Amino acid sequence: MRSGASPRWIEVAVESHPEAVEAVSEILDRVGYGGIAVDVPTDAERPHVVKAYIEYDHRARFKVRRVKEAIGHLRAFGLGPVGEVAVRRIADEDWLEAWKAQFSPVRIGPFYIRPSWSAAREDGIEIVLDPGMAFGTGLHPTTRQCLEAVGELELAGRSVLDMGTGSGILAIAAAKKGATQVIAADIDPLAVRAAVDNARRNNVTIEVVEGSFDAVSGGCDLVLANLVADVIVPNAARLAELLDHGTLVCAGIVADKERATIDALVAQGLHLTDRDQQGDWVRLTLVPEYILDHDLIAP
Ligand code: SAH
Repeated sequence: MRSGASPRWIEVAVESHPEAVEAVSEILDRVGYGGIAVDVPTDAERPHVVKAYIEYDHRARFKVRRVKEAIGHLRAFGLGPVGEVAVRRIADEDWLEAWKAQFSPVRIGPFYIRPSWSAAREDGIEIVLDPGMAFGTGLHPTTRQCLEAVGELELAGRSVLDMGTGSGILAIAAAKKGATQVIAADIDPLAVRAAVDNARRNNVTIEVVEGSFDAVSGGCDLVLANLVADVIVPNAARLAELLDHGTLVCAGIVADKERATIDALVAQGLHLTDRDQQGDWVRLTLVPEYILDHDLIAP
C-alpha cells in the first residue's frame, strides 16, 4: 500500500444460503466495523451475501484468517451452501459509500423505509431505521410480505400485537397507520433494545416486551407473527386466543410447511382469508370463524 494514501478498509463478503445467513452474520459481526450487512436477493434462487468491513491495520490479516477458519467450520456442519470468503481492499471514501449503499431506501406498499442519513420524502408513510443486526438481516421477503399486509389493513384506533418484532419494523408500521395500542414482543433482548430505539426514532408509542406468548394478553384486533412454522404450529391455540374479533397475519412459513400450519390454525377455529407467496415464503391471513360475516378488517 502506498504511504500517504487514505486509510483503507477491507470488505469481507460471503455468499450464503438463507439457512446459513444467521450463522455467517454472527461470524462476520465479531470482526466487522459497525456491524454487518446482508444483501437479500429479489430472486429466491440466488444466495444472500453477508458483508462486513474491517479496518486495514496490523490486525486485519488475523481477523480475516479468523473469519476464514470459522466459515470453514460452518461448511463442515453442512449448514446450507456457504461460498468462499471474498476479500477486497477499498479506499476510505468508498467505504462509507459502500456501507451506506447497503441500506438504500425502499418502498413497500404505502411505506417508505429509509436509513436516517438518506433524505426524507414527502410521499409515503415513512419508517426510519438505522443499521445494526436488526436492519442487517432487515428487509427479508417475509418482512416485505408483512408490511404489504399491514399497508392494506384499516388500523386507525386498533390494537396490534407484533410477536417476534425483531427491529420493531412491523409494530412501527402499524402505529404509523394509526393503531393506538401496539405491543411488540421478542425473546431476544437485542431485538427488544433495537425495537425500543427504532420506536423512539420514529416518534411512535409502542410497548416492547421481552418474552413470548406467555408474556402478552389477548384482545387484539391484529396479531402479526413473522415467525417460522415451527413456532407458529405449537402456538396455534395461543394465537387464536389472542385475537378478539381480529385478524392474524402469519409469515416466515416455508412452502412445504404451509399445509401443516394451515391445519393447525384451522383446528383452532380460524379461517384462511388470504395467502401470498414470494419465492419459498408463504404469508397467511386468517380470521376467527365467528366474524366471517362482519367486522372484517382484512381485505
Ligand atoms: N418482525 C420482524 C422480525 C422477524 S424475525 C420482521 O418482520 O422483520 C423473527 C423474530 O422472532 C426474531 O427477532 C426472533 O428473536 C423472534 N422470535 C423467535 N421465536 C420467538 C418466540 N417463540 N416468541 C417471540 N419471539 C420469537
